Amino acid sequence: MKKVLIPTALDAVAKEMLEAHGGYTVLQCPKSDVAELVRANPDTHAILVRSEKITAEIIDSAPALKVIVRAGAGYNTIDIRHARQKGVDVLNTPGANSNAVAEEVIAMILADARHLVEADASCRAGRWEKSRFMGTELTGKTIGIVGLGYIGQLVAKRMSGFEVRVLGYDPFTSEEKAKTLGIELTSLPELFDQADYITLHVPENEETRGMVNRTLLKNMKTGATLVNCARAGILNEEDLRAVKEETQIHFLNDVYPKDAEGDKSVADIADLMLPHLGASTREANRKAAELAARELIDLDDKGITSAVVNRNVPAGLDPAFARLANVLTRICRRVLGVNTRLKLVETSFYGSLKPFADWLLTPVTAALSGEYDTGMDHKRTLGFLADMGVEYVNRSIDDSKAYTNSITIDLTGNVDAEHLMRASVRGTVEEGNLLVARINDFDKLYFEPEGNWVVFIYKDRPGVLGRIAAGLASAGVNIDDVRNPHDSKGHKSLAILKVNRPVNDELVKAISSEIEARIAFHIEL
Ligand code: NAD
Repeated sequence: MKKVLIPTALDAVAKEMLEAHGGYTVLQCPKSDVAELVRANPDTHAILVRSEKITAEIIDSAPALKVIVRAGAGYNTIDIRHARQKGVDVLNTPGANSNAVAEEVIAMILADARHLVEADASCRAGRWEKSRFMGTELTGKTIGIVGLGYIGQLVAKRMSGFEVRVLGYDPFTSEEKAKTLGIELTSLPELFDQADYITLHVPENEETRGMVNRTLLKNMKTGATLVNCARAGILNEEDLRAVKEETQIHFLNDVYPKDAEGDKSVADIADLMLPHLGASTREANRKAAELAARELIDLDDKGITSAVVNRNVPAGLDPAFARLANVLTRICRRVLGVNTRLKLVETSFYGSLKPFADWLLTPVTAALSGEYDTGMDHKRTLGFLADMGVEYVNRSIDDSKAYTNSITIDLTGNVDAEHLMRASVRGTVEEGNLLVARINDFDKLYFEPEGNWVVFIYKDRPGVLGRIAAGLASAGVNIDDVRNPHDSKGHKSLAILKVNRPVNDELVKAISSEIEARIAFHIEL
């Protein structure tokens, strides 16, 4: 059992998911001191945190620690470098709270534009100040979004309902991408010059610290609004103070140098201020918890490293392809036969997946051995395969051919001292869905590898599919989906059936011997 500590009030769904998955003992202690809790549990495998600090000392006090998951986007509270030195992967859950922040931005803009906070107080006090609270409308205005990542893109999407013009600044966003989002890319000065509402969605780093300065602020339209729900350091507070009166900028703020009680230095220049509430919705907390648990399971079971922030995983690797590599390898291993001694693993990564070959070997290896520690880097993974007696070849792909993004896994093994067996499975991802395209010579399958499947390969002749269906029905197993292609050259047929529940080995064996199948197995995907 792997021990997981959750020293925070993370939504209970993370604990539930890990326990339901099996293999994890979860200790959730929201109010405990993290350092003490870790010291008391030196066998901890993983820690799931929200904004709790994980220092080098905490990492050192947990010799069995392999994973830290930050249920949230920013991870500056975790000593990621020290974690790497100790072979500990740090994961985050980007995107889980994006909608919460995007909605907060819109709520703040509308609240300010219609004076909701003051009007509420005035009305409660018995006053009737309709002319004092004359508002403005969003429709027809220009919105400027600085940073077009998860949150910036969602702000654009949500804002489109107000029929606004959306300007965006992000040197890492292409024209095509911006166009599909209905965003006109501009320079930063142009954005500040033209927008009625400007909202910041960049991370705080060397490049962005103090980025919103006097020159930009002075260029803003008189009475325009600036929203900061990103990080305090992005805005030069003194510069805003200096130009605020002249420009009459409305400043709406959610972020501070420190998340703590007490007076806030921006109080005199902020027209609306909230105590860092961006991610504070039940839905975001639940989403972050679900994602944190799923990522831990995916890393442990499938070697999916795309959420890891402290390994050199290149940006742009869609995690769906890591899942695909894992699932294709699992199917291929079953087609080869679990008793066949594996000798050779060949991978082919087509299209834009080619540069990710090293990283995709992790989910492939995780599918081949439960003993594999998915924290191993590429070199150690190769060593692990070699120790298993397995040769690994990543096939070179002809660059001149315009392949779509897809993966082929080929496995070769010894059935006995004299006979070799080969199995090959190919698949792709379409609109985010995994698809298995080919098993051995059976092409154009295009099934979604999810749920329970039974697979038979047998000598092609009439009536076999009916006998398989009858065998399953006799045990009360319902068939949800079937593919039954023929290989006319090899005189073989493949029956791959999605069923409504797991099928035990006895039933698979009974059907297999009745139809004289060459290959027969059940697999849960
Ligand atoms: P993200 O990484 O998805 O997006 C950041 C975007 O900024 C990227 O598209 C990147 O290309 C762009 N960028 C980086 N440097 C830039 C620069 N110099 N100029 C212009 N664009 C630049 O991040 P996200 O999830 O969208 O989060 C954005 C910010 O929101 C982060 O600072 C995060 O800490 C903050 N945040 C705040 C809250 C809150 O509660 N208020 C909650 C979540 C996130």
